[in-house]
Amino acid sequence: MPYTDPERAKEYHRQYVHKYRESHNARARAWYAANKDHIKSRSTEWSRNHRERAHTSKYKYRYGIQSIEEVRQLKTNPCEICGLVKKRMVIDHKIHGTYRGILCHQCNTQLGWYENKKVKIHEYVQKGIN
Ligand SMILES: [Zn+2]
Repeated sequence: MPYTDPERAKEYHRQYVHKYRESHNARARAWYAANKDHIKSRSTEWSRNHRERAHTSKYKYRYGIQSIEEVRQLKTNPCEICGLVKKRMVIDHKIHGTYRGILCHQCNTQLGWYENKKVKIHEYVQKGIN
């Protein structure tokens, strides 16, 4: 059924996918389950061999940062909470597609803890004030 009209071909493909979706998905799941280790090792190997590209695409997707050099430059900035430059600096990614700021690892983990317990902490602090 190769259609020469691209619109007819597109419509045929759309209907085909709709009609065989369940069986196609089941076959794909079975194939993935059977080849899971191979897929994971290939992916890991690719990331290892293309380290800079893998990092760049991660930073581009998560934070909108275009190059690994920009990431390295950002990580030389002082932590926006404690003001120190430490060995492990991280990009705080509260906002998807961009970033909130640069933090040291310690402040970043404590910020996550604070954000999870914020209400309880403020209730506790208020007890001492009243
Ligand atoms: Zn800090």
